[in-house]
Amino acid sequence: MSAYEKLLPDTLDGSKPFWDACRRHELTIQECLECGHRRWPIGPACTHCLSTDFSWVGVAGTGEVWSWITYHQAFNSAWAADVPYNVALIRMDEGHTMISNIVGVTPDEIRIGQRVEVLFEDVTDEASVPKFRPVKP
Ligand SMILES: [Zn+2]
Repeated sequence: MSAYEKLLPDTLDGSKPFWDACRRHELTIQECLECGHRRWPIGPACTHCLSTDFSWVGVAGTGEVWSWITYHQAFNSAWAADVPYNVALIRMDEGHTMISNIVGVTPDEIRIGQRVEVLFEDVTDEASVPKFRPVKP
């Protein structure tokens, strides 16, 4: 595998279980063990009841494009070869919103409400990054 120059996941925030699941090509989210609320982004306490007891549960990995932007300039040289590339807000079917890229499309092919599904790019031997692609009708 060639050298990966983009940012790698930082797990000092408690997200290691999330990234470990990504490595297994599974998308997960935190679920409160007190009230059942599922939260994203991750955090140390439930945003509904403040309980710090939680588990990681799998989610479907499907959703729709809520919004996106196309970058025509690389603000970091590691992304220079990708220009133009998109950064999208994906409203997941479970209700939370993720930020990622939609791959396999040109910027003019992305639409609000477009159905997408997760895929995982194995960027190093230890890290896999969730991205999204349009669901074929
Ligand atoms: Zn809770």
